[in-house]
Amino acid sequence: MDKVYVVGHKNPDTDSVCSAIVFAYLLNEWKKMDCKIMKVDKEAVPIIQGEPNAETKFVLEKFGFSVPEIMTEGEGKTVALVDHSDKVQSLDNIDKSEIVAVVDHHKIGDVVTPNPILFVNFPVGCTATVLKFLFDKTGVSLPQNMAGLLLASILSDTVIFKSATTTDMDKMVAEELAKVVGIEDITKFGIEVKAKLSDVSGMAVKDIIMRDYKDYNMSGKKVGVGQIELIDLSLIEGRREEIYNELQKMKSEGAYHSIVFMLTDIMKEGTDLMVITDDPSVIEKAFGKKLEGKSVWLDKVMSRKKQVVPPLEKAFAG
Ligand code: MG
Ligand code: MG
Ligand code: MG
Repeated sequence: MDKVYVVGHKNPDTDSVCSAIVFAYLLNEWKKMDCKIMKVDKEAVPIIQGEPNAETKFVLEKFGFSVPEIMTEGEGKTVALVDHSDKVQSLDNIDKSEIVAVVDHHKIGDVVTPNPILFVNFPVGCTATVLKFLFDKTGVSLPQNMAGLLLASILSDTVIFKSATTTDMDKMVAEELAKVVGIEDITKFGIEVKAKLSDVSGMAVKDIIMRDYKDYNMSGKKVGVGQIELIDLSLIEGRREEIYNELQKMKSEGAYHSIVFMLTDIMKEGTDLMVITDDPSVIEKAFGKKLEGKSVWLDKVMSRKKQVVPPLEKAFAG
């Protein structure tokens, strides 16, 4: 085995794919220059654990990269991990592989190694931010198209700096990368990137609803809460009626007390909550607002887990 496979987590996002490509490049540069912080004696190759999403495909194409090969088995392989260090997110049989490096920005996972390895984990918004630091620190210049991959990854992971995980380092690095790539309006580019997963025009209504949908038992009542995050709610304007009708059908077929569907606007930082319920007063009590027809606008509400489910549970409890 004369290769180091560089891989991100399962169900890959843009950061996992792009960071694998860029870290593989960096490892190969380190091999050439006889890097002082890590001895690299094998050729590094980026791989991914599954099909890239529409956003990632757009980013790869824009900067002229092909989709890395898919590989899911780790046994007997030499590997470098990016964007994760949890076994469940890693290659199958990761315990039977040799891990030579980890570059990440999450909580420390549960992979173990018998020897010391390069392990670089910063509490920042994106693996790409950590990689930029490694290029700078080891004096390797970052090719323009790879700077593009890293910039797109930061904008994706930090939701254009709106996510609570965003740090000043992510913003600083993004500005440096944008200069290298020649992108003047970072937000505009971020919207272009995030818009790819916001494109619901070709999706079946059921898929729009079920992409991120969960059932709850709230004080004995069956409640469904779905969410779709969009760069701009106008993207779904033409589908509202269809979604509402489908939710109604789901409600009667599934014997729900209520179904709420979060149409979250990333840029406006709020959610238009579509509501179908046996008792509108419970929903109104939960959010302290009157229903305006079929929905209610909730300013600054973006998280189902933190801002929608708890008040609903409280209102149902009486
Ligand atoms: Mg990720
Ligand atoms: Mg990431
Ligand atoms: Mg992510």
